[in-house]
Amino acid sequence: MSAAPAMRPDRVVYFDNNATTQVAPEVLQELLPYLGELYGNPSSMHFFGGQVGDRIEEARARLAGLLGAQPEEVIFSSCGTESDNAAIRSALDRNPGRRHIVTTRVEHPAVLSLCRRLEEERFRVTYLPVDADGLLDLNQADEAITDETAVVSVMWANNETGVLFPVEEIALMAKQRGAFFHTDAVQVIGKLPCNLARSAVDFLALSGHKLHAPKGVGALYIRRGTPFTPFMIGGHQEYGLRGGTENVASIIALGKAAELAATNMAEEQTRVRALRDRLEAGILRTAPGAVRNGPVQERLPNTSSISFEYIEGEAILLHLSDLGVCASSGSACTSGSLEPSHVLRAMGVPYTRVHGSLRLSLSRYNTDDEVDYVLEQLPPIVRRLRELSPVGREELAGHA
Ligand code: PLP
Repeated sequence: MSAAPAMRPDRVVYFDNNATTQVAPEVLQELLPYLGELYGNPSSMHFFGGQVGDRIEEARARLAGLLGAQPEEVIFSSCGTESDNAAIRSALDRNPGRRHIVTTRVEHPAVLSLCRRLEEERFRVTYLPVDADGLLDLNQADEAITDETAVVSVMWANNETGVLFPVEEIALMAKQRGAFFHTDAVQVIGKLPCNLARSAVDFLALSGHKLHAPKGVGALYIRRGTPFTPFMIGGHQEYGLRGGTENVASIIALGKAAELAATNMAEEQTRVRALRDRLEAGILRTAPGAVRNGPVQERLPNTSSISFEYIEGEAILLHLSDLGVCASSGSACTSGSLEPSHVLRAMGVPYTRVHGSLRLSLSRYNTDDEVDYVLEQLPPIVRRLRELSPVGREELAGHA
């Protein structure tokens, strides 16, 4: 897809928080000194490095607090993708007699592309299907996990639709058969409560830039006692489990972002959900041919995936972008070709709707006024685009 328009609109209305989030001002404030005067290396013996090391441990404790984990169960990484790769590779390494992996058809490429690569390395992968609402069938999961399964990797929430998977139940199934269980929780952490102290999950991946910390920092939870083979081999950082000098400023930022999320979660969830519901209901009511993708209940409070029949999601995005509204479509732009969303296709959404999909994802910074703005601007865009499409025009006339 082509880049954003050359002219920057007067206002920015940001409804693309599953792609990335604004760094919270409080987070930025804590981060900045560590890009400036406090530049010590936490591994150094002197006080100047030592004070930085203390802040990393504080960040670890804050993040562990958000996860309901112990600080020593959390290691920092460069991103969610690295954490996913590290967990799955380690699980395979530590279960060497087994060459079977169970995952789902709707994972993020951080897991899906790795699984395709592992097939080339002669691992067998079962990709669990989802139903029309994007939900998993637990019986199918139960049947797929066998005594040959080394690792089960199931995302907690889907990045496109927000659909939530019953990871705890599947983790128990994995444990019963001696398999490791990993969850990609990149879209959940900071949005929904998490208590790993009372969980069967072995590994959990998260990413800083989805919860108002900067890009380029993530973390991996490794349950205490779970054997782990480092993915990044190098120095003794992160208890010897992840080599490489720490991204100090971003780690401190992630710790602060986790603390903010933990403090404000209950109130934010309710407020963001109400905004999302009003936005979604308004679009479904007023934009022609609009259909929600995913269930009403079992999904993240901030995400809405809507398809508009007979028009291109990219066209909607560009019109919205001209008006300052940032959103996503269900297509991935790869080398100039528009791949229809593998998530919507797995749900059996017809092609006429997959191509016309729009994802709106909110955060604590969205307002009622912004919802009103989108509700004002989006339906006429959809109507105009349908008038330009021969099938859409017929449909509009039929429903007039
Ligand atoms: N997993 C999910 C579900 C995601 O949504 C993303 C990013 O969009 C990732 C993994 C990758 O995270 P990162 O960008 O930190 O590598």
